[in-house]
Amino acid sequence: MSTPQLILKQRAELLAVLCGGGSAEPLDCVLDLLLAWEVLVWEDYLSIQVAEKALSYKVRQLLDVVYDKGEDACSLLLAALNQVLPEEQKTGLCFGEQCAVVGKNRPDTATLTLLADRPVLVRKLRDNIDGALDVLLTTGCFTIKDCDVVQLPVYTPSQQVRRLLDQVRFTGETAAKTLLQYLEQTETSRPNPEDKENHLSANCMLYQKKLRSSVAAQSHSLNTYGGTGHFSLDDIYTDGLLEVMDGSGETTTLGLEDVVGPLGTLNDDADTFLVSGEAGSGKSTLLQRLHLLWAREALLQNIFLLFPFSCRKLNAEHRELSLKELLFLHCCWPDRGQDEVFQFILDHPNLVLFTFDGLDEFKQGFTDEERHCCPTKQVPVPVLLFNLLQGTLMKGVVKVVTSRPQAVGPSLKRYLHKEVLLKGFSPGGIDCFVKKHHSDPAMARRVLESLHANSVLLSLCHIPVFCWIVTKCHQELLGSQDGIPQTITDVYLLVLQHFFQRKSYQHQGVLGKAWLEEHLNTVLKLGQLALEGLEASCYVFSGYELQRIGLTDQDVSMGFLTYCSDLSVTDCKRYEFLHITLQCFFAALYVVLNRNRYRSAIYRLFQPKYKQLAGLSQRCLEPCFDSSVEGMESRVTETPNLQITAQFVSGLLSQRHHNLLLECCPTAMRERKAKQVVKSLSKCMQRHFKSIPRPLEGEKKSMHAMPSFVWLIKCIYEMQDSSIAQDTMAKLDVEHLKLTYCNIGPVECTALAYVLKYLRNPVGLQLDNNSVGDVGAEQLLPCLHICHSLYLRNNNISDEGIRKLLEKGMKCERFQKIALFNNNLTDACTQHFAWLLKSKQNFLSLRLGNNNITSQGAEQLAEGLSYNQSLQFLGLWGNKIGDRGAEALADALKNSTTLIWLSLVDNGVGSAGACALAKIISQSKSLEELWLNKNCISREGVECLIEALKVNTSVKEIWLRGNNLSPGEEEELSKQESRLTF
Ligand code: ADP
Repeated sequence: MSTPQLILKQRAELLAVLCGGGSAEPLDCVLDLLLAWEVLVWEDYLSIQVAEKALSYKVRQLLDVVYDKGEDACSLLLAALNQVLPEEQKTGLCFGEQCAVVGKNRPDTATLTLLADRPVLVRKLRDNIDGALDVLLTTGCFTIKDCDVVQLPVYTPSQQVRRLLDQVRFTGETAAKTLLQYLEQTETSRPNPEDKENHLSANCMLYQKKLRSSVAAQSHSLNTYGGTGHFSLDDIYTDGLLEVMDGSGETTTLGLEDVVGPLGTLNDDADTFLVSGEAGSGKSTLLQRLHLLWAREALLQNIFLLFPFSCRKLNAEHRELSLKELLFLHCCWPDRGQDEVFQFILDHPNLVLFTFDGLDEFKQGFTDEERHCCPTKQVPVPVLLFNLLQGTLMKGVVKVVTSRPQAVGPSLKRYLHKEVLLKGFSPGGIDCFVKKHHSDPAMARRVLESLHANSVLLSLCHIPVFCWIVTKCHQELLGSQDGIPQTITDVYLLVLQHFFQRKSYQHQGVLGKAWLEEHLNTVLKLGQLALEGLEASCYVFSGYELQRIGLTDQDVSMGFLTYCSDLSVTDCKRYEFLHITLQCFFAALYVVLNRNRYRSAIYRLFQPKYKQLAGLSQRCLEPCFDSSVEGMESRVTETPNLQITAQFVSGLLSQRHHNLLLECCPTAMRERKAKQVVKSLSKCMQRHFKSIPRPLEGEKKSMHAMPSFVWLIKCIYEMQDSSIAQDTMAKLDVEHLKLTYCNIGPVECTALAYVLKYLRNPVGLQLDNNSVGDVGAEQLLPCLHICHSLYLRNNNISDEGIRKLLEKGMKCERFQKIALFNNNLTDACTQHFAWLLKSKQNFLSLRLGNNNITSQGAEQLAEGLSYNQSLQFLGLWGNKIGDRGAEALADALKNSTTLIWLSLVDNGVGSAGACALAKIISQSKSLEELWLNKNCISREGVECLIEALKVNTSVKEIWLRGNNLSPGEEEELSKQESRLTF
């Protein structure tokens, strides 16, 4: 008997066994298998799993659908039933001949993998739903609403998993990848207790205990709170924004626990994990948190021994060391069984983790020229470090390295397992930090109010170190008569004033108006130490060095320097500035206030070419930005510090601080130096502009800015002199300004807008792949009038940011295009776009791909579109507008005389949506391309499109790849209409 006949004959029995127990689980399991084996396509599945229908309806529906599919499908249904039903229910049933399930090639997308592995995934995820939802939520793939839908209590855990899988599939490829990576990670990170315990001797356990307690002691409190001592890391630690970028350039948000997880892996063979971020973005603090949590067994539980290193401290190690000495001398000395402990480390690299903080502060730039793999041989520390990072030495040990991005060149990149970007605090992070810092809620509220009332200051607070200063100096801030800080120089002058003020209070005094002059002597000595330190890549100072410069205990007690906490075995006291940016600030003060030496320092600080290397005193005068100059690679690490110093120099020489500096430095000298800065900035900009290639014929004149362009803009901003900004921009003549992947956050947006608003001609401003965020978007408003196009793809912008941007955009005559692919937009922003479309009848292009817009949002947009007669490009790729949304858009756009390009790729649009869109095609004389790939359109929908195309001559192509059509149907339909692409 054929299998369809078998099914027909046993229909009543099959119905009974699948419905008998009242549980939907057997049916669900059968459906899982049939989806995995590709017997059912998604549309079949939806036609069976109709939410409000009874179980018996669903089973009947399944039997009908499969029966219609013929012999092979029926065989596979019987095979699935045979697999799912318990033995006792199988008696009396006939399953036909055993049929082999043909092994298919592994699917090439994550979404398809979810289907192919569905039965296994349901089992694996059953006990892990919360974890999976957490990851999907924190990576932004799911909203809270998505999670709630999955976790409705009426569902059994297996049903919840299936809902989760369905929702992930609907959300798209990124979500599917995230889920698969999460599963992989939970499997690989699950510690294998047997492995560990088998090899652990008492000595190793003892060593672990000692290491844990010294790491805990060292990471318990933050350096910046050292003097005041009230806060532990637990009290103040606030999660920063962490992102990884995968090979295709897509970014995902991470949690601290994912820093060494598989998400974002670039190279499986490498074991160095890089956390990169600008100065003050919180790299050291993040690492410290990681250390503390490991010491408490709250994170990295599969790591038995963790060795923390600071690169700035390794600079001071001039001896040749073996690996063993490096570990034991610099981290923790084993009291017993040294050899045994070391052997354990060598034998179990997978249980060991090293961290290296501040690779950018390591004197020597990374090279992989010298190979070294012997753990007992003594070699210079750079050789040890670089071979550890490459994996030549101790392959398999995870290494977590922090650095500023500039110090990571191509030679190191080859050895990176992945790169995690630390982007400072999110807006929520700032609030959280301020509340943690001020235990008095009323004070926290006042500080937050003053921050939120000043968006420039708020934008600065995205960088944790600035946030720390602003919060710490709240009294000076709230009671300031000199206005709210606008620049980073203002912020650092605030901290300077704060520390001197604190000292005066201790002596029952109040800081006078001429406070800088009063403390000039201390400032100059600290400045000299700072500048000489920067010159020599030295960030840790011995007591002897302090003495040489004449720094007294009283100077030290001001609090700008702090003792280095250190695990290594050294007797002498060592000091460092509270933060590297503070060292740069003192260096800048020295450059500005010193009357004797470094007269030409300013000029050379901005010099592009490093002219003569004669003696130590000139080392600081190296180029701030010319990292590509031959032979300079190893010195690149100093450049960012010199750039920050130059920024402070610009700020200090601003007219705003004239009064403060009046008594400290003769006016003539100050003015001369200010002139020098302006001249240097102008020259550097000129050089930048000259590098702009001539446009190719037919192309726009475009400038792809280098990171140093952003630095120069920031220096101009620090000067707060509009005439300088105006003069500089008068010479820039481009139609398109590209600043992609330039680490542009809110602070940079403030500076950019300050300068770009003086451009003479309208420009397209491309800021894709930065971290502009809502606050940054607001900062851009002053230059919006000069932007004809704004590209903000992948920038963490949400509805609130859009509201402010469009409010202004509506009033800007020239503003015609916006691209917001991959941000955090929801239906809440579509009303603003609707207003924009209604009120701006010259708006040309709106691209909102990869956001969270549903049918409701599409309906709102449609409302605006129906009044618009200018839009040419509309992109909604990767949203969730479904049939309803497509119908609404079609209705609004059917009379458009301008629309050229429309993309609704991957939006859950079915045949109903396609038939509605056919209305646009039959009426439009302008539409040229319609993109409908990755939807669920079936034959009926395509036939509507073909019908409409018969009366349309403008459409050139309709893309329909990845819809619900069989290869046969695709072939047949494309023969009917050559403009369809499958
Ligand atoms: P980086 O290493 O990137 O230069 P740090 O980690 O030294 O930055 O941060 C500078 C200061 O900013 C810290 O000393 C601390 O006061 C504050 N800070 C940084 N990150 C955090 C955080 N996650 N939570 C609380 N404060 C932080």
